[in-house]
Amino acid sequence: MKRRTFLRHAGTLAAMPLVAPSWPEPFSRAASAPLHVNGARLNAWLTSFDAIGRTPTGINRVAYSAADLAGRAFTQQLLRDAGFTPRVDTAGNIYARLEGLDRARPPILIGSHIDSVTDGGNFDGPVGSFGAIEVARTLREQNRRLRHPLDVVIWQNEEGGTTGSKIAVGEITDADLAKVARSGTTIRDGIGIIGGDVSRLGEAVKKKGDIACYIELHIEQGGLLEQASTTIGVVQGIVGLRWFEITVTGFSNHAGATPMDQRQDAMLAAAKFTVAVNDAVRAQPGRQVATVGRMVVSPNTTNVIPGQVLLTVDLRDLDQQKIEQFTTVFERLAREIGAATNTTFSFKRLTDSRPAISDPRVMGWIETSATALGLSSQRMPSGAGHDAQEIAHIAPMAMIFIPSVGGISHSPREFSRAADIAHGADVLLNAVVAADAQMAASPTAPTSRTGRL
Ligand SMILES: [Zn+2]
Repeated sequence: MKRRTFLRHAGTLAAMPLVAPSWPEPFSRAASAPLHVNGARLNAWLTSFDAIGRTPTGINRVAYSAADLAGRAFTQQLLRDAGFTPRVDTAGNIYARLEGLDRARPPILIGSHIDSVTDGGNFDGPVGSFGAIEVARTLREQNRRLRHPLDVVIWQNEEGGTTGSKIAVGEITDADLAKVARSGTTIRDGIGIIGGDVSRLGEAVKKKGDIACYIELHIEQGGLLEQASTTIGVVQGIVGLRWFEITVTGFSNHAGATPMDQRQDAMLAAAKFTVAVNDAVRAQPGRQVATVGRMVVSPNTTNVIPGQVLLTVDLRDLDQQKIEQFTTVFERLAREIGAATNTTFSFKRLTDSRPAISDPRVMGWIETSATALGLSSQRMPSGAGHDAQEIAHIAPMAMIFIPSVGGISHSPREFSRAADIAHGADVLLNAVVAADAQMAASPTAPTSRTGRL
C-alpha cells in the first residue's frame, strides 16, 4: 500500500469506533480499560538481579564475562518461570515467544539488553528486558491472546556496540567481530561463550517484514523527564552521531625565550576552538550537542609551547542536516582560529552514524497508552545509542523512556524509581495491545524509517 493510501486508511480507522464488531473479546476489554503489569514482581526481579556482577565500584556485567553469563542464566530462568521456552540464536541473543492467534503474522518484538558498562548501574537495560518479560507474562496470565506472536528479545552486548541487534539486521562486519570486548575476549569468541555460533550468524539475521514492530522500554539516562516532572518519554528517534579527530599543528618552542606575538601555540588554538564549538552549538535553538572530550597535547611539558594537539569532537542531533550544517561551521571556525593563531587544523572523521527515526504510529500507540493510564508524557530524542537504532533499519520502532533520578546513568548511582518502572512496563503492555489491534486491522504494517527526516 502506498503511504498516502495507508494514511487515508489510518484516518478512516481513527474515525471508526475503537472496537470493531469482528474483533475478539480481549481487544474490546483492552480498549475500554488499560491493563497493568505486576509492578511489584518486576521490581523484585530487578532487586535480585542487582546482586549479579555487583562489585564495590558498581555493576560489572560486561558482555561475555562470568557475571554476564550469570545474568543471562537468571534471565532465561525468569522466562521459564513465566512459562516460556527461551531460545538462544546463533548471535547469542535470547528470544522467547508468546504465540498469537495468527501464527502467519510477523511478531511484535519487545526487549532490551542486560549487559552493563564497567562500573555501571542495574537499570540501563534490565528495566526494558525484565519489563518485556513481565509484559509477556501478564498477557499469558490474563489469557489475553494477541493476533500477532509476541517475541521477547534480550540483545547481547549492547554496551560494546549494539552487537546482537547489529547482527540481527545484518550490519555486523569482520572488524566488529575482531574487536576486544571489555571482558577481554573478542566479540567473535564471546559469541561462542554465550551459546551462539559465529559460523552461522546469517541464521540470526532478520529482514524487512520479519518484525511487525519493535518497542523498547529503557531508562532515559538524562534528566529531561525528571526536570519536567513527566513520567513517560516517547522517543522520537535516536540521534545521529559524528566523531571528529582534529589535529592542531603549531610549533614547539621555548616557553621563556619566545615572545607572545611570535608563537604558534597549538594548545591556545585548541582551547579557542573548544570554546567556539560550544558557543556555536548553544547559539542555535534545538537539542544538538557537541563535546570536545579528549585532548592529547604534545610535547605536554611545562616549559615548552605546545606544538601539536589532537582533540576529538562528538556531535549529535536527530536531524542529519543539522549534523552536516555544524560540520561546516566547525570547519569554518577552525580556519578562522588557525589564521588568528598561526596554526593549522586538519579534520578526520572517526565515526558516522545516521539518526534512526521512530515510527509515528508506534509513537502514537505509546502516547495513547500513557494517556489511558493517566500518565504524563512528552516526545523527546534519545541522545544515547540503543538497540532500537539498529532495528529501525528493518522495522518500525519506537522507545519508551522513564525518568533517571538526577539524570545519572552508566554509573553506580544510576537509579529509577519502582513506580516509574512499573508505569513504563504498563505503557509497554498497552502499547503492545494497541499495536496488535491496529496492525491486525490494517493490511499493511507501517514502514521502517531510518536516517530520514
Ligand atoms: Zn541501555
